[in-house]
Amino acid sequence: MPSLTFYGGVNEIGGNKILLEAEGTKIFLDFGMSFKIANTYFAEFLNPRKCSALADFFEFGLLPDIKGIYREDYLKHMDRPEEERSVDAVFLTHAHADHAQYIHFLRTDIPIYCTKATKIILQSLEETGSNPLSDLITACDAFTFYTNKKGNLSRVTRRNTDFVHERIFHVMEPEDKVAIGSLEVEMVPVDHSLPGACGYIVYSEKGNLVYTGDIRFHGSNRELSKKFVEKAEAAEPKWLLSEGTRIDSTQQDSEEGVKKEITQLISEAKGLVFVEHPIRDLDRVNTIFEAAETNKRGFVVNLKLAHLIEALGDLSPFSLRDVKILVPKKGWGLICKDGIDGKLVEQDYANWEKEFINRENSITCKALQKNPEKYVVSMSFWEINQLADIQPKEAIWIKSSCEPFCEEMELDEERKRNWLEHFGIEEHFAHASGHASGVEIGAIIKEINPDRIYPVHTEHPEMFTDFLKNITVEMIELGKKYTL
Ligand SMILES: [Zn+2]
Ligand SMILES: [Zn+2]
Repeated sequence: MPSLTFYGGVNEIGGNKILLEAEGTKIFLDFGMSFKIANTYFAEFLNPRKCSALADFFEFGLLPDIKGIYREDYLKHMDRPEEERSVDAVFLTHAHADHAQYIHFLRTDIPIYCTKATKIILQSLEETGSNPLSDLITACDAFTFYTNKKGNLSRVTRRNTDFVHERIFHVMEPEDKVAIGSLEVEMVPVDHSLPGACGYIVYSEKGNLVYTGDIRFHGSNRELSKKFVEKAEAAEPKWLLSEGTRIDSTQQDSEEGVKKEITQLISEAKGLVFVEHPIRDLDRVNTIFEAAETNKRGFVVNLKLAHLIEALGDLSPFSLRDVKILVPKKGWGLICKDGIDGKLVEQDYANWEKEFINRENSITCKALQKNPEKYVVSMSFWEINQLADIQPKEAIWIKSSCEPFCEEMELDEERKRNWLEHFGIEEHFAHASGHASGVEIGAIIKEINPDRIYPVHTEHPEMFTDFLKNITVEMIELGKKYTL
């Protein structure tokens, strides 16, 4: 009989790692990081140690200790004997860290299935990321030596290209069905706060299974979610794995509402407008871009967002040429000094950043200071020190992202407010969630009408029973195997 084991996403929002087994075939649905567990034991300056390979992650349940799925270089460093690959494939619903981050630890010979946008986002994260865990598309052998030209042993780095391995990615198009052993898996796009999000329908001889991934019905791509529900219903699934982030909420969000509010706020602003938003939520980014355009202001993006917009190409709602790229002062801060040789300026930046500093539409803080009424600027707490260069007058800050959900975020929020107060910047709010409300989840469950529901990605699985009279709701436990 098929079975399901949940190694994450249990009584928590995110960290989804769901193992589906059926007649010798094994697939993972998502392989994400649990923020809840990570925040329980670790902090900004206390992280799982690289030198422990996987041990610190196993110790606290950040990763399940399963044979045959992890990178051989890590296992070898832990003196574990070689293992045979035990999982046939991993299907990612989207590139948010709580669904995809921990593919970093997987063997590189496990094929990963996802949408084109998901792969591009993971690639962009790898190219622009600065920590070792952001290696997602490729894996460089860790704890490995090579013999150098002098005949001595040296540690392998990414420069030793022989030791860098590409993961096996299979990009799925809408309606694509792929056969993995005894299972057939269909990718169906959904609307969420990140490009390329999808759900999956898994067909098997014993019955069909639907997995929502993260889903909402109020973004620009809401039609996709509606179609997903229709497809899911048509599959007459026995089992439904449904997210329930906002199962306790009746609030009806709307991306159009956010656009209206931001457009209005910009129209009333005299000085610069800063907007704080989830950086890779291109739906929101487009909302801000259009709100800026309506007010005849230019939209200014940071280097990481510039990288992603360019990498997405046609999948981005607008071209990088349509916006301004803000090049911050870094290193010696030479970008803002006149008459310095371009080669010397470049040295302040990482290789990927150099691509963006000399574009026709690249600007610096000087332009923002000179013509504040001309711009709407994408900004976050992590770059807020640029305000000291800009010295904004009569500026406003629009927080277009979720409220802090842990103590560390609360503290950062307080620091941010101190910065805003220091520069006399008024803060406003305009946000819509990436997730469906409880009412909407209840409605889609009724429509899909499965025999049994497994609530994931929620802190309130018990609330699923409120909507459903004839459907069994399984209160899942971490690591427990459920025979289907
Ligand atoms: Zn999530
Ligand atoms: Zn998500």
